[in-house]
Amino acid sequence: MLAPDLAARLHDAARLINTASGPRGGQYRGDQLATASALSREFPDRQLSAATSGALDQIHRLRTDLTQTWARIAEGTAPAAVQDTLNALLQEHGPVQLSLQGPDDATHQGASASGQWVLGGSDGPAAERFIRDLVLAVAEAAVAGELGRLRVCAGTDCANALVDVTRNSSKQFCDEANCANRTHVRAYRKRRASGQTPASTPAPDRTPEMDQAPATSTAAPASTPSAKSAKPTGQDEEAAKITRKIRKLSTRLQDPELSTKDRKKVAKKFKKLRKKLKGSANAELLNRLPAAAVK
Ligand SMILES: [Zn+2]
Repeated sequence: MLAPDLAARLHDAARLINTASGPRGGQYRGDQLATASALSREFPDRQLSAATSGALDQIHRLRTDLTQTWARIAEGTAPAAVQDTLNALLQEHGPVQLSLQGPDDATHQGASASGQWVLGGSDGPAAERFIRDLVLAVAEAAVAGELGRLRVCAGTDCANALVDVTRNSSKQFCDEANCANRTHVRAYRKRRASGQTPASTPAPDRTPEMDQAPATSTAAPASTPSAKSAKPTGQDEEAAKITRKIRKLSTRLQDPELSTKDRKKVAKKFKKLRKKLKGSANAELLNRLPAAAVK
């Protein structure tokens, strides 16, 4: 699980990405950070009210880079390529110095009773601290083996970044504009229109479960005998199952305690499941899943 402080900073990073113009929760939205004064409205806890237009430019540049980095991670780009992307991000915007926080009695050997070394430090204008904080958060997520929690919303017409803090790593939709429900309703209507779902099947309502796994729709009559194989509804169920399995295996593969023998076994299963999903009608789900069976 993500530490609460790290999760909070990653949420801020996602929020920054989501201020850019683009498809958000089903409709196109313009830039929410067009002026420096918008900064303190979007990030009220960050003391950004004195930020200059120069600082805003810097934050815009960070936003562009963060958006690209986040997308690559969420797409499941191979770790070696993600490493390059992260290093470029750190080099461009990251903390370049250590600073000692706390009272003067902090020692160079480490933390004293109340002082400690901090990467990036707490000096400088609020905008600079904000930038360093977000970049460092992504780097820390990498170190903690939690990059898999950085996702892009699976909703129709939504490019929102999100941080998955669920226990079972299953969040696929952002919390904006009912993305989960909207996407399920659309899929349901499509099936209805093509006669694949009986008219008596209830339309999907928003349930917590629907926020988590996109294809586990209440519209899919999984219990009917015909739901298996040929019917797209059954395929959706199957794809959801495979998706959950892939996520689980990916988490297992990141376990440093896993023996080499088990790792091989799990990696094999992982590859097999990805292949299976690739050959299915829901192959596009692969874009949301971890790609490589290595850490
Ligand atoms: Zn969304």
